[in-house]
Amino acid sequence: MSTDRVVVVTGGNRGIGRAIAERFVAAGYRVAVTARSGEGPDGTLTVRADVTDAAAVDAAFTEVEQKLGPIEIVVANAGVTKDTLLLRMSEDDFDSVVSTNLGGAFRVVKRASKGMLRARWGRVILISSVVGLYGSAGQINYASSKSGLVGFARSLTRELGARGITANVVAPGFIETDMTAALPEDTQAEYRRSIPAGRFATPDEVAGVVTWLASDDAAYISGAVIPVDGGLGMGH
Ligand code: NDP
Repeated sequence: MSTDRVVVVTGGNRGIGRAIAERFVAAGYRVAVTARSGEGPDGTLTVRADVTDAAAVDAAFTEVEQKLGPIEIVVANAGVTKDTLLLRMSEDDFDSVVSTNLGGAFRVVKRASKGMLRARWGRVILISSVVGLYGSAGQINYASSKSGLVGFARSLTRELGARGITANVVAPGFIETDMTAALPEDTQAEYRRSIPAGRFATPDEVAGVVTWLASDDAAYISGAVIPVDGGLGMGH
């Protein structure tokens, strides 16, 4: 198994993205993280990029290519929530979440796919969410962006599958990060009761699935949605 491939993880300064970057570093990959603020973990190259800005993504990926070499694996992880019920949701609440979570994946994957096509090898891994297919009251913007990633990965699989490139979706359930820490305690307790595993997961439990999808062992898996949710979505 090759372990020195070049990987870019968006939003690698904290949360799930940081855990993914740490796993890739531990496995010997050359790892770059994009961050708007802060730094990636030890052993990574941090480049600045807001994923809503195509020019910033282009500049960041060019810097990675110059410093580490052609990008072979991209993990579109950067994401945000702006929860509210439909009738209270503004145009901006909807657009900003979709532009970050779905549009961000479009920008980074489009940029990364150029090198992958040249190399005739690539791994695209999109971090979705259990709510993309399960639905969630108060998250029409977020759930729409996350289910959009499924159509994205499946269309990409049909476009680029013959060129040695796979595209898969990882759909985490509730993971202990800043994003879920922001939920009220009683909401967290209610969620825990609905998860068959009876607990939230650590970011590292998502990271292990992502590094496996990037490995040669997963070469024949594409267009899949892999839940990491303690049974919450039951495979959707
Ligand atoms: P965090 O809130 O801890 O981190 C979000 C990351 O995304 C940060 O690195 C943040 O950068 C980055 N980011 C947000 N907006 C942008 C942007 N416009 N451009 C570049 N980077 C951006 O979230 P998690 O680690 O919990 O979530 C990571 C991914 O996993 C997200 O896509 C999320 O939707 C998904 N997910 C999380 C779940 C959970 O339970 N935590 C469950 C299911 C899915 P910065 O620090 O600079 O803001």
